[in-house]
Amino acid sequence: MIVVGLTGGIGSGKSTVSKLLAERGAVIVDADAIVHELQQPGTPVLAAIAERFGADVIAADGSLDRGKLAEVAFADAESLQALNKIVHPAVQAEMAARVLAEADTDHVVVLDIPLLRAEHRERNGMVAVLVVDVPVDVAVERLVAQRGFSEADARARIANQISREERRELADRVLDNSGDLASLERQVDEAWEWLQTLPPTAVPAAADAASSPE
Ligand code: ATP
Repeated sequence: MIVVGLTGGIGSGKSTVSKLLAERGAVIVDADAIVHELQQPGTPVLAAIAERFGADVIAADGSLDRGKLAEVAFADAESLQALNKIVHPAVQAEMAARVLAEADTDHVVVLDIPLLRAEHRERNGMVAVLVVDVPVDVAVERLVAQRGFSEADARARIANQISREERRELADRVLDNSGDLASLERQVDEAWEWLQTLPPTAVPAAADAASSPE
């Protein structure tokens, strides 16, 4: 398998690229989707969140009230750290398990991580990182026109994220999504060709042992 990372800011077109890569045969491991799955009613992660932040963050139907959680968890740095300490290890373990399940294949495995950092790369054996990049004004325009954001909200969310510059520093390949969808698709085709030429990810010995039947 060839493990690579995919990241991009809100409104950059990361989900669009992920979909295009999946159509070309990539196996997508979507960090956001995993977070959602791990916070379903009855999961240990949801129980730990309720224990730390109070029963108020659980809605009447037993699901996580994301609005309430955001209110309390983003109130101060300590609370956010506590939430991350509950969620991040569980997400990392699930991503690692999904990657390991592909170890004996020749698949391109794409880890789609909104806030990708250098340590994700090492931890997951990524041999490259793709970054989807757009100027802030283009992202804002798309979020307003296509996703129903107010301009102020779109700008505030972008300002809260990693900057374009920091993100591009992680990139082995940048997909410039300032043009139309046809241009993005052409770049994905080229990136897909390039991905096949990358060296396969070395599966760590410990993971190898864990996956063997003995
Ligand atoms: P989020 O982080 O919010 O999920 P994202 O980075 O995954 O955002 P997308 O959802 O892929 O971004 O794209 C944002 C919006 O812009 C979508 O409505 C998408 O259809 C649209 N879009 C993406 N690329 C282009 C493009 N090149 N031209 C026009 N619209 C585009």
